[in-house]
Amino acid sequence: TARLIDGKAAAATVLAEVRGDVDALEAEGIEPTLAVVLVGDDPASHVYVRNKVLRAGEVGIRSLEYRLGADVSADELLELIERLNADRDVHGILVQLPLPRHIDENAVLEAIDPRKDVDGFHSENVGGLSQGREVLTPCTPTGCLRLLQDSLGDLSGLHAVVVGRSNIVGKPMAALLLQANCSVTVLHSRSRDAAALCRQADIVVAAVGRPRMIDAGWLKPGAVVIDVGINRIEEDGRSRLVGDVDFASASALASAITPVPGGVGPMTIAYLMKNTLIAARLQHAAAPEAVCPSTC
Ligand code: NAD
Repeated sequence: TARLIDGKAAAATVLAEVRGDVDALEAEGIEPTLAVVLVGDDPASHVYVRNKVLRAGEVGIRSLEYRLGADVSADELLELIERLNADRDVHGILVQLPLPRHIDENAVLEAIDPRKDVDGFHSENVGGLSQGREVLTPCTPTGCLRLLQDSLGDLSGLHAVVVGRSNIVGKPMAALLLQANCSVTVLHSRSRDAAALCRQADIVVAAVGRPRMIDAGWLKPGAVVIDVGINRIEEDGRSRLVGDVDFASASALASAITPVPGGVGPMTIAYLMKNTLIAARLQHAAAPEAVCPSTC
């Protein structure tokens, strides 16, 4: 049966790296700071924001929380983002999605300074990833890539199948795997013979949002399976979280597999912290160190 890929342990390693980077920056007089913006009262969003702020505190990243009512205007939100963009003491800006319907989500994401865009959703970062430039990349797929590299080492030449083509997981995952020299196939709701295509994969990343859709029938023996899905279902009279992969069935055939929970989830937050550190370094490297008064 498949080896379990322990996302909690991997996340602890990433967070320890971040902790070291925080100490190094603080020695230079820089306090890495993440601003988290939460609009409205979606309960899941509140839980996500609380977890992000808690994790930041644990690794020594300062966090600033901005909670706005569901009826906030787009202009007010954009003004806040402008203020955070201009604030040299803020290194990362995260706007928790989804936003209320009356606000254009894309306009808000585009308003964030790309160098502070710790979610990696700004078009400049999306384009940069596609061109293979070093940019801030989305936390969930970046965390998945790290799990794969920790498990398999060099991914060159492997065939990776990504199931799902969302802007936040599927598409950036495909771009990252391509960057890591995989041959990449992206499957989606209109794909024909999806299971047969998936059976050709050395690596399967499932980001669909359908409980247990991918079972052993989708897998080649020995495939490595990363399950991004988080689905709440009712089973045997209780509520539980399951992935997009049928764990019991898949783990009989896969060589390694992430559990849900305890797989990709912890890595997502760990990479948010890592991105905040990368953003802080980026801004301080780019900032003019000392402007000579006589020349300005
Ligand atoms: P989404 O709904 O935006 O996208 C789902 C994708 O699945 C679509 O591109 C669609 O084409 C594809 N799809 C739907 N039915 C399909 C089918 N039958 N066969 C093949 N493809 C099909 O979802 P998302 O935001 O990418 O999230 C996917 C899952 O990952 C969700 O369960 C979500 O909760 C979870 N998620 C987890 C994390 C984490 O930190 N672990 C982060 C983000 C999302």
